[in-house]
Amino acid sequence: MSDSKDAAARHPLAMDTLVAFCASRGFIFQSSEIYGGINGFWDYGPLGVELKNNLKAVWWQRVVRERTDVVGIDSAIICHPRTWQASGHVDHFSDPMVDCRTCKRRFRADQLEGERCPEAPKKRAVTDCDLTEARDFNLMLETQVGASMDASTAAYLRPETCQPIFNDFKRVRDAARQKLPFGMGQIGKAFRNEITPRNFTFRSREFEQAEMEFFCHPKERESWFTFWRDERMRFHRDIGFDETNLRFRPHAADELAHYANAAEDVEFLFPFGWQEIEGIHDRGDWDLSRHSEYSGKDLIVTDEETKERYTPMVIETSMGVDRTALALLVNAWEEEVLEGGETRNVMRFIPALAPIKVAVLPLSKKLAEPARTLHADLARHWNVFYDEAGNIGRRYRRQDEVGTPFCATYDFDSPDDGKVTLRERDSMEQERVPLEGVVAWLRDRLETAL
Ligand code: ATP
Repeated sequence: MSDSKDAAARHPLAMDTLVAFCASRGFIFQSSEIYGGINGFWDYGPLGVELKNNLKAVWWQRVVRERTDVVGIDSAIICHPRTWQASGHVDHFSDPMVDCRTCKRRFRADQLEGERCPEAPKKRAVTDCDLTEARDFNLMLETQVGASMDASTAAYLRPETCQPIFNDFKRVRDAARQKLPFGMGQIGKAFRNEITPRNFTFRSREFEQAEMEFFCHPKERESWFTFWRDERMRFHRDIGFDETNLRFRPHAADELAHYANAAEDVEFLFPFGWQEIEGIHDRGDWDLSRHSEYSGKDLIVTDEETKERYTPMVIETSMGVDRTALALLVNAWEEEVLEGGETRNVMRFIPALAPIKVAVLPLSKKLAEPARTLHADLARHWNVFYDEAGNIGRRYRRQDEVGTPFCATYDFDSPDDGKVTLRERDSMEQERVPLEGVVAWLRDRLETAL
């Protein structure tokens, strides 16, 4: 059994369970569900959008805002088509594909191992099907821009968010008055016409990336690669990933792109095995040189002190937002056995990532009015949920299973003593806190720096 499969076999969570949970609680579900869905596309519901936005905010804070040498951009999804000729995507961004002459399905030729034929999964491995020779299939999604429909109006939905960063390099360096070394980050959608989307959101056709390109002097490329590689691992630890679920996987020499000096993946242990959630790449001067050649624009920099002219080297950190959000869901999931044998489902998100920070729960509908006032006060600061239906134990459990770190219960003593009960998700401990101190109490616990 391969390393990945072995790891998967030991995993406590089944993907089907997670997929069903995510749909029923409104984290993530199929796009266009009422039409039967569309393969490789996913929608984020009320809880999913909060989780993903929190992840993006934490990345932006850490990678862009906390650094004086990194700035952010938000570029268009559609770039000048020459961009993708320069980057090599038009000629080389493809996966090997085979067709099955019997069931008419398509497969990735390099991922056939262990695959069962969808026609007769119990009887036949795909490798025993009547397959065509492998041929290259370009993964870029094409569209037309403008009123006419000819080759001159063809454009691509970007397959990665980094190329527009290279297009904007000179403009942004000048506008932000940055000297090398410096980086540019962006978060946004990317599109790949994956041959076999699979494993829930892990391999989708539309997804988000959080990428940072760091431009430096050739002499510093190795030290910056090491710096960013360690920095990115620190990030993944800080957002709550269990140490045993994370590892680096350096690329072997024959995996590296011809222009790359080094590349390492950050891998997470999913129920389907160890898989990449982020790549850290030393891309050398490939991108800027190619864009300079194809655009005719000089992208060389001059060192102010030494007057040396050089094309900057690029160290890239490229995190998949959806893959990391999926890993967070897997990592946070726990079926906890309580004293007395009862189980509770609890999502142990760190507070910064929890979709709902506090749930306000009046003990009875008769207490709705003051509880709604508390909700309004807290909602000025955080994403707060209000729930007055059902028994209080069940309401706590509903919050536990979506990862809400705190519940504030307004009970029959509250009008007299001016206090509410604050309950913590993990320990389930409860504390009476004066109403006027609730914001400060929560702030202390919710806004701890990562
Ligand atoms: P893979 O080998 O799994 O296809 P990749 O090496 O092509 O991934 P990169 O081009 O390095 O991926 O993209 C950077 C990140 O973007 C990946 O680490 C991953 O988190 C995310 N990503 C890439 N392709 C997809 C996809 N089809 N669906 C969701 N996320 C993706």
